[in-house]
Amino acid sequence: MYGPGDVRVEDVPDARIEVPTDALVRVVRACVCGSDLHPYHSMEASAEGSTMGHEFIGVVEEVGSDVATIRRGDFVIAPFAYFDNTCEFCREGLTTSCVHGGFFSTAQAEAVRVPLADGTLVKAPVGEDSALLPSLLTLSDVLITGHHAAVRGRVGTGSSVTVIGDGAVGLLAVLSAKRLGAEQIVLMGRHRARTDLGREFGATDVVAERGEEGIAKVLELTGGRGTSAVLECVGHLPAYEQALAVVRAGGVISRVGVPQYDQGPVGFDLFGRNLTLTGGPGAQRSYIEELLPEVLDGRIEPGRVFDRTVDLADTAEGYRAMDERTALKVLVRP
Ligand SMILES: [Zn+2]
Repeated sequence: MYGPGDVRVEDVPDARIEVPTDALVRVVRACVCGSDLHPYHSMEASAEGSTMGHEFIGVVEEVGSDVATIRRGDFVIAPFAYFDNTCEFCREGLTTSCVHGGFFSTAQAEAVRVPLADGTLVKAPVGEDSALLPSLLTLSDVLITGHHAAVRGRVGTGSSVTVIGDGAVGLLAVLSAKRLGAEQIVLMGRHRARTDLGREFGATDVVAERGEEGIAKVLELTGGRGTSAVLECVGHLPAYEQALAVVRAGGVISRVGVPQYDQGPVGFDLFGRNLTLTGGPGAQRSYIEELLPEVLDGRIEPGRVFDRTVDLADTAEGYRAMDERTALKVLVRP
């Protein structure tokens, strides 16, 4: 990506093993993330450009000499961050705070160098022609992010939840809240095809209105109290302000949309009603291990969020489609 709206597919030096803990993974499927649209709108134009992509599944082509648990030929899921899975943060599940870790940024490609392969990669017992590829790919980011939103939002049996945003993460936050036992799930989104899928994933109510009108609708649906959890899956300030207005006293605002703002209301609005503000990146390995069996046996079908597939050469078209909202989420096939 060279600047706003400027995505090019180019030949670069091949990814390769650089240190003995690396693996080289041939990408079977990658995709474009809603968070990739933030730089697509606002990055500063640059002559060098930035490599893109942090979601991928693939087949291991080669491993470094210190890699013990992953072998050539394994089909693997890579979370959007890499980590050692052994440091004090990883042991608490906080793999995105790993002292040796980092975030992937080269996955919209034919192959990716994966650092700390033993810690990072999760094997899946499927072939590269599996019909489950779209759902498996959601374990790389959008499903585990939606699940993280619900977990951080303390969603459990009987919870009431508002999900803000009808992008792939928002819809999978709905699926996750339902899976964790939420009773009422209000989805705020205004794209009918998306909110219809959200209903299939478990939304009990849909609010298409925004701003004051949207807030009034959610309060009306919740006896004037708001919901105990609000899962904010957008990342812009108005979404946070909306969250603050529809969360129940004592409740939790859990943000997983990457915030595009540094300042917002954290004063008496938050303090006066004993609210919790939480959230962040959720590339927890344990989430993949927990959710993978349900993807494999078809109990959940998160891959339904993909509604377009492009070849790697047409990745720019994929960005355009997501930006214009003609696609919800775009698969990239190398
Ligand atoms: Zn670690």
